[in-house]
Amino acid sequence: MNGGPLERVALWARLEAAAEHDLAIVGGGATGCGLALDAAARGFSVALFEADDFAKGTSSRATKLLHGGVRYLAQGDIGLVREALHERASVLANAPHLANRLPFVMPSYRWWESGFYGMGLKAYDLLAGARSLGDTQFLSASQTRELLPNVMPTGLSGGVKYWDGQFDDARLALALALTAAARGALVLNHAPVTALTREAGQVRGVTVRDALSGTEHRVRARCVVNATGIWVDALRDMDREADAPRRPPMVAPSQGVHLVVDRSFWPGEHALLVPKTQDGRVLFAVPWLGKTILGTTDTPRDTVQHEPRALPAEVQFILGEAARYLARAPQRADVRSVWVGMRPLVKPQAEDGADTKALSREHTVLIGRSGLVTVTGGKWTTYRAMAEDVLTRCMAKGLLPPRPAGVTDRLPLLGAAPGRSIMAPPGEHLYGSEASTLQALPGATRWLSHDAESGQPVLSEAMVRFAARHELAASVEDVLARRCRLLFLDAAEAARQADAVGAILAEELGPGFDAAASVASFRQLAAQYGELP
Ligand SMILES: Cc1cc2nc3c(=O)[nH]c(=O)nc-3n(C[C@H](O)[C@H](O)[C@H](O)COP(=O)(O)OP(=O)(O)OC[C@H]3O[C@@H](n4cnc5c(N)ncnc54)[C@H](O)[C@@H]3O)c2cc1C
Repeated sequence: MNGGPLERVALWARLEAAAEHDLAIVGGGATGCGLALDAAARGFSVALFEADDFAKGTSSRATKLLHGGVRYLAQGDIGLVREALHERASVLANAPHLANRLPFVMPSYRWWESGFYGMGLKAYDLLAGARSLGDTQFLSASQTRELLPNVMPTGLSGGVKYWDGQFDDARLALALALTAAARGALVLNHAPVTALTREAGQVRGVTVRDALSGTEHRVRARCVVNATGIWVDALRDMDREADAPRRPPMVAPSQGVHLVVDRSFWPGEHALLVPKTQDGRVLFAVPWLGKTILGTTDTPRDTVQHEPRALPAEVQFILGEAARYLARAPQRADVRSVWVGMRPLVKPQAEDGADTKALSREHTVLIGRSGLVTVTGGKWTTYRAMAEDVLTRCMAKGLLPPRPAGVTDRLPLLGAAPGRSIMAPPGEHLYGSEASTLQALPGATRWLSHDAESGQPVLSEAMVRFAARHELAASVEDVLARRCRLLFLDAAEAARQADAVGAILAEELGPGFDAAASVASFRQLAAQYGELP
């Protein structure tokens, strides 16, 4: 299915050659990539620009759960849960190499907890209907201990088991972008949009810079969508007349921290969910790509950041709560990587003269007077529903001609093939049906890195070449953070691989690639991920 190497120079040349696109999308996270695919699958001509790398923002920093949102059920928001359960099933069907169902257990330490949460989860099953991933079950204390080998046994009275899904977020965003490209979309990373262009007061295109060559390009489009997540206000600011006052911000950022520890701290095949920690938050321990993710927090921040840092109190909170539920609890020295994502929480507001409507409590689509379309909020799981909402609104406003929805509900993504669970360490299984192309590249059996606990090979020379030739990777960070997830799994090991990856990329990308600078900047980033505040 892979259409051969993706040449960056050829992509820019195609962009220059096109007179106009139906849709220019700014931002290559879950929202932008999902929209690019939906629009391309409907036959629209699409150009997507990502300032850094696909999923560099929030979309590589999620807890990686495909979920209906049990807590929205508790709030009585049945429509939202039903929509997310539908989307959960769609991702599992369309990207089986990057997503799988995952059993969760909520341990109970108070007599009423199993009954209370269990009844809610039974309702969750009912809402999922035919899309249910498995029945909710009430567990005795001994059954709970069997499924959660390292759970704190003191005071344990039972538990509830239920099902949701999990996925590899950065690779899913990439698969969306590449599937859109296979359907004719022009998708470019390292391509920041620096200005919006207007004609007769209407936004009719963007100015975009090729960050690798420094050249600027003007792109005409009937419709421009701002899908920049926590950065939507910066782009909306570009839409302001020079003398107009700044608009109040749409997004209130809030950060969530994850700590990654060895699988030995959470052995077994079940994730842990604590629905209400001491201060009312949710705590997860999720087996993922051979390690365990612990998280997360929800801390309001004043500014948006490209590489947000964990606060000491957030780390203390996660380790402290983990110590209450894990019999053998991780210490600071056991943390292999710490990463932080920023949620784009949308402030309710009605902009003067703008057509604004919160399509659901989770995401917002806003079309300004100039025709600039802004979409933000929501969650990873519902990216496809968000894309459908955006296109429906654009068509209703006459920005795009009408085309029927529903084309991506069952549309296999590039590489789609049943594979191993993504609980296993990263490896060739994440490439699905593309693995044969990978195996044909030089260095397919030259393994650069192995998982420390299982000894399984996780990164090969061929994977680096594949990232450069077929996945638009242009830096050591692109490879080690988002093509292979080593930075998120074990920052010290990722730093150790930087030189080798830089050398292979130099062979692949040619003289324009500054290997020394790419390695140095990645080492600096890996030091941040590997060090607790
Ligand atoms: C801690 C945490 C945990 C989460 N866990 C889950 C979960 O388990 N399950 C779930 O379903 N959801 C989860 N979410 C929510 C989910 O991650 C987000 O809703 C989703 O990733 C947002 O995607 P986005 O594309 O809107 O934003 P982003 O991923 O941030 O993408 C925006 C992109 O725009 C780019 N950009 C910015 N300015 C420009 C410009 N001028 N030109 C070009 N590009 C630009 C940025 O570089 C960025 O890549 C979680 C969120 C957080 C914070």
